[in-house]
Amino acid sequence: MILQHNYPLKPHNTFALDVFAEQFVSISSEEELREVFRSEQGARPVFVLGGGSNVLFTQNVQGLVCKIALTGIRIVRETAETLDVECAAGEGWDDVVRTAVQQNWGGIENLSLIPGSIGAAPVQNIGAYGVELKDVLVSVQGMMRDTGEMRTLTQEECKFGYRDSIFKRDLRNKFVITSVMMRLRKNPTANNLHTSYGAIREELTKLFPETPHESYTVHHVSEAVRSIRRSKLPDPAVLGNAGSFFKNPEVSRNVYERLHAEHPAMPVFVLDSGKVKIPAAWLIEQTGWKGRKDGDAGMHAQQALVLVNYGNATGQDLVRLSERVRADVFAKFALQLETEVNIV
Ligand SMILES: Cc1cc2nc3c(=O)[nH]c(=O)nc-3n(C[C@H](O)[C@H](O)[C@H](O)COP(=O)(O)OP(=O)(O)OC[C@H]3O[C@@H](n4cnc5c(N)ncnc54)[C@H](O)[C@@H]3O)c2cc1C
Repeated sequence: MILQHNYPLKPHNTFALDVFAEQFVSISSEEELREVFRSEQGARPVFVLGGGSNVLFTQNVQGLVCKIALTGIRIVRETAETLDVECAAGEGWDDVVRTAVQQNWGGIENLSLIPGSIGAAPVQNIGAYGVELKDVLVSVQGMMRDTGEMRTLTQEECKFGYRDSIFKRDLRNKFVITSVMMRLRKNPTANNLHTSYGAIREELTKLFPETPHESYTVHHVSEAVRSIRRSKLPDPAVLGNAGSFFKNPEVSRNVYERLHAEHPAMPVFVLDSGKVKIPAAWLIEQTGWKGRKDGDAGMHAQQALVLVNYGNATGQDLVRLSERVRADVFAKFALQLETEVNIV
């Protein structure tokens, strides 16, 4: 375990913000992790970092940045139909998706091409194209920062919600995820696939015109999702961003009816809970922020929900711009946008 000082974080955050960590360490074993938090008892704050695809650094980080580099994937249990696969927190999320797709294991193909690590995936219960991590997650293992004790949380104990979990609430800054166990389906049939959400079906037909629907596999769905995402979302390697910056607001029926009367063209999704979800991208577009910039900070031209660093914006510039967007949405719709990205 090598402790580095004044360490550049630019390669470690997808906004490409040019900030430094006072101290930085990359840990690749549970023992090293325990050692880090033993020293935390002393004084310095510790920030746990995965792939840096959901953080916005507003300044240099005081204290220690601890990069989770635990690796390993293993099958823990197997039945005729399912596999329980345990993945260490430092594995890349999309690397695991690729492995699953190659092996024809079903369940996470709709979550293809989401950046970041396995360990951060439960933090905001990653989701895309009608599937969330919670749908396949069996348990999360990790370490209590104060005692070094290892704990396993069941799916229920993780208290998952839309881009939400116990790790953002009661266990925030108290627990480090070291591995995640998922239950995947062996040899899924076309009936097990989720193809009705968004433009997936259309994309499948476009990419695989010769393949009958009943012959689709996880490979086809994964390729369709990758293709849609590549066409819609800016690649962080080219343009600094952290995906969706705001959550889609979920409102009560009453609020929806007020908004619908004022804005009949507003697109909505009615949720099982009876609440109504409104696409934040549409709200932002209505305020004229889609594709608008202030210096090097701006909202993406194709995807209004994505806040972009066009070059040399600072974290402060990005936060300021996001606050202007939020204020304009509030002025027009009386709705508060909630931030999805972690501002540090
Ligand atoms: C282009 C792009 C597209 C995206 N698309 C999606 C999408 O479709 N759906 C979606 O849900 N998200 C999406 N995201 C957001 C992001 O990829 C996910 O939130 C991802 O899970 C973040 O992983 P990370 O390892 O980069 O986390 P980081 O950014 O490193 O960390 C995120 C938070 O988790 C904490 N954390 C990290 N690792 C651990 C750990 N082991 N234990 C405890 N806490 C930890 C950090 O302290 C921080 O608070 C997108 C991002 C980008 C850049």
